[in-house]
Amino acid sequence: ARPHVVVVGGGYGGATAAKYIRMWSHGSIDVTLIEPNAKFVSCPLSNLVLGGSRQLNDLTRSYDNLKRRHGVKILHDSASSIDPEKRTIKLLSGEVLGYDRLILSPGIEFLWNEVSGMDVAGAQDKILHAWKAGPQTTALRAQLEAMHDGGVFAMTIPLAPYRCPPGPYERACQVAHYFSQHKPKSKVLLLDANEDVVSKGPLFKKVWKERYPGIIEYRPSYRTTAVEVATRTAISELGDKVRADVLNVVPPHRAGAIAAQTGLANMNKRWCEVDFITFESTQARNIHVIGDAIQGSPLMPKSGHMANQHGKVCAAAVVDLLAGRTPEQIPLLTNTCYSYVSDKDVIHVASVHVYNTDKKTLLVVPGSGGVSPAPTELEGHYANSWAHNIWSDMLT
Ligand code: FAD
Repeated sequence: ARPHVVVVGGGYGGATAAKYIRMWSHGSIDVTLIEPNAKFVSCPLSNLVLGGSRQLNDLTRSYDNLKRRHGVKILHDSASSIDPEKRTIKLLSGEVLGYDRLILSPGIEFLWNEVSGMDVAGAQDKILHAWKAGPQTTALRAQLEAMHDGGVFAMTIPLAPYRCPPGPYERACQVAHYFSQHKPKSKVLLLDANEDVVSKGPLFKKVWKERYPGIIEYRPSYRTTAVEVATRTAISELGDKVRADVLNVVPPHRAGAIAAQTGLANMNKRWCEVDFITFESTQARNIHVIGDAIQGSPLMPKSGHMANQHGKVCAAAVVDLLAGRTPEQIPLLTNTCYSYVSDKDVIHVASVHVYNTDKKTLLVVPGSGGVSPAPTELEGHYANSWAHNIWSDMLT
């Protein structure tokens, strides 16, 4: 029989892996992708929906080319359990699939039990995260539009590592950009569990001071452990309270539920450890984990760009393994994260990560990467092209 790979999750990691296995095996490996959503919606650029310069539709793409052009079989369903011994995966619909290799790219699961008040019925309809792009993104934009001028938008940020290190600070810029044009008396308050801005700190702080003076306030070491939903109040572990007109809570998170539930989230019970040559889990044979669900290498950001690179390294290794070859390539990964500080101007951070055979992990190449000197409109064009290019790389 032809080898069969099942991929769980059609996001940045999973869609890339599915497409590249089909391409690099010249169609000799059958690939089934399990993804509940009918269409792909990108988190990158989704902060611009909050700022008002993009619509969700601009960030939405079809899975059709994966099917038609690349012959990936797509099931719009969810993985509900995995039997690593039998090499089977059960779907919500009840269907059971066998696999030779399984690739999990399920993204993240929110740990609502770590923010008391948010795990009660109805709370999550009122206090939004918008940290998975989709209906919550447009709903948060609607809350901002409905807010009176002079109101406060407060956002809570969990301790690192979390999805998209610069994402919260970009969001602050986007909301401040909207306020500066339409609600100039309003304020943005960042309640950050971390001691300092996690990514591009000096650049963001300069932007906040120069472009949005008096609009953005940054409070470090504010770890939100409870929320009073009715009054939209964020309560810190020390008992400090901040009341907002629009409260945006990004809770702590861990590897997507299916990975954690299969016993693969062995790092602090949060993240999955893998062998970086193949991205095979250290906890179960024949199961690979990529994207935001993994950790283990210092300074490896949880980004769409990285997930796309994991997808390719993993695809190459899986094609080798299923052909009976030992994967010999030394992984070299790049990362770029662009952040829009207005509707046009952008800053970036970049890094290069190479596999170290002694330490068996990915390390940042000394002297590689860096950050922008200042925001520019030219980088805005690069950022927009980056998004369109990576969507095409994954999906067309
Ligand atoms: P995802 O892309 O989230 O894909 C996971 C998929 O798995 C989802 O489609 C989900 O439906 C599916 N799934 C989950 N569980 C199951 C199951 N049991 N069965 C079947 N399917 C399942 N990154 C950048 O590189 N650049 C940026 O500019 C950037 N900006 C960002 C801005 C924001 C506001 C946010 C929130 C994130 C941003 N990111 C950015 C980070 C990026 O979105 C993530 O790192 C990336 O999506 C991770 O890819 P993934 O494949 O691990 O997860």
